[in-house]
Amino acid sequence: MVFYPPSWVPDLPDIPDSVSLEDFLNNEKHGRHAISASRNPFTCGLTGRTYSAKEASQRTEYLARAIRTRFSFNPDEGTEWDRVLAIFSLNTIDYIPFALAVHRCNGIVTPASAAYSAPELEHQLRSSGAKGIFTCVPLLETALKAAKAAGIGEDAVFLLPVPGFSSEKLPFKTVDDLIIEGERLPAVEPLRWVKGQGARQTAFLSYSSGTSGLPKAVKVSHRNVIANVIQMELFERVARDKLKVKTQVVLGVLPLSHIYGLVLVGLVSCYRGDEVVVLPRFDLDAFLAAVQRFRIEQLDVVPPILIQLITNQAKCDKFDLSSVRMVFSGAAPLGSELTYDILRKYPKWHVVQGYGMTESSPLITSTSELDVLVGSSGSLIPGFKAKVIDADGNEVLGYDKRGELLVQSPAVVIGYLNNEKANAETFVWHEDGRWLKTGDEVLVRRSEQGHDHFFIVDRIKELIKVNGHQVAPAELEAHLLIHPFVADCAVIQVHDPRAGEVPKAFVVRSEEGKSESDEKAIASISKHVEDHKARHKWLRGGVEFIETIPKSASGKILRRMLRDLEKDTQRSK
Ligand code: AMP
Repeated sequence: MVFYPPSWVPDLPDIPDSVSLEDFLNNEKHGRHAISASRNPFTCGLTGRTYSAKEASQRTEYLARAIRTRFSFNPDEGTEWDRVLAIFSLNTIDYIPFALAVHRCNGIVTPASAAYSAPELEHQLRSSGAKGIFTCVPLLETALKAAKAAGIGEDAVFLLPVPGFSSEKLPFKTVDDLIIEGERLPAVEPLRWVKGQGARQTAFLSYSSGTSGLPKAVKVSHRNVIANVIQMELFERVARDKLKVKTQVVLGVLPLSHIYGLVLVGLVSCYRGDEVVVLPRFDLDAFLAAVQRFRIEQLDVVPPILIQLITNQAKCDKFDLSSVRMVFSGAAPLGSELTYDILRKYPKWHVVQGYGMTESSPLITSTSELDVLVGSSGSLIPGFKAKVIDADGNEVLGYDKRGELLVQSPAVVIGYLNNEKANAETFVWHEDGRWLKTGDEVLVRRSEQGHDHFFIVDRIKELIKVNGHQVAPAELEAHLLIHPFVADCAVIQVHDPRAGEVPKAFVVRSEEGKSESDEKAIASISKHVEDHKARHKWLRGGVEFIETIPKSASGKILRRMLRDLEKDTQRSK
């Protein structure tokens, strides 16, 4: 049984496959002219510094000229893989113009999480083949360590300005310096792409652990992103038209390094002419102040941000949040209880939930402002098809039956870079084409209006979501195994009232580990993670010693047994 979007959802037009994302967003000939439709596509939520549409496009162009010259990028020679640049930065109003400038040079952008430690960043720089790195002052130390280790010279490190951090005395050029340089340089020739090139050529190299194993580079094509931008805009346009919303002011607080922030906040907003007020990172005071100051109408959030609003009501009440019309929550489950708490507190808000993943660039389903079913992740957006399969791989027929979700859409990515095993596991061929296995357990329910709603009921894949960030158990397990106290281990997610989930390690102690007290051993193992891994990967769910790790005959960790064990422990507390 194949599921389709409900009948009220418009059909998806043909998606352009011979234009770059930059061309699509900046060139009127592709129909709805995005960036120029916005008065001020990007405004800094701390300082109020803003770019008009013309300035944003011009900055992209000048930056492209400087990048091409400094990195000797010849858009007509070699391949896009010779022109990979990393961005390791807090959110800034230059983030999207920078990304589009790299595309203008026929290159690839690899966005790295601003939470990364130096070794994590080094892994991304090496595996992506990045030739340079654009960072910001607060992350510079980490960026320099990683760049050095990955063989990137300091002359290939540039700074994006973020408020509150001066770069004046530092020996690094900023994007503003490059833009001044670019003004005097010859224009970059228009890209001459052949048919199909937009579907083959990678725009972003994002990182995701997929259904198992270590974080992997995901090849997201230009056409994938263009498709998802059009899909989301079309889906939401139905409600916006009915509510007579033309353009609006959106808060860009989610990390632009993650595909959700990048595509659904940064790119979709500028495609439809919205204005994005950008905050470097989430901080409740700055968030509330920006909503009030800029009369924010749409909040794009992850559930932990909504939890902050509910648990800090006295503070929230000091700010005027009455401009907010719509809240879009994604990246992790938004529970019904939390939704009702928010609606009780802010009855006028339209709270919708989206579900997606890096491998689908990202949005798959969403509720609509006009079709909300609390707890549901909504309906398929235009151009998506879905199937649900049981553990034996048979199609689940009918409604209200659980199984793994498989989807098809022009937004499903090219695949993982140099990883045929993961590609074969995740992108599977059936008689009716190529399907993305999401690794999420769903059930589909018909609403009273006759619309198919998807409920994400569990996660089958080995992935932990902390504040919406990915944590791959395999990555933490590999890291724990090098600790002298650890003979074997397994990492699972446990519920956390603030972050949604946090990682917990079950550890079989080595002989050396047994000679230490429990307390000291736990402290040492936890520190081993804290010293080397991003904060969201820290073992905030704790460390528990265990005699053996339950495994299948083939050696696979039986995580469900550990999750059940954890539930029993919690119940008996
Ligand atoms: P990422 O690739 O980092 O975007 O992570 C994708 C994964 O996050 C999905 O496969 C789901 O497991 C989870 N996820 C995203 N959105 C939701 C949602 N609305 N409800 C439940 N899980 C979600």
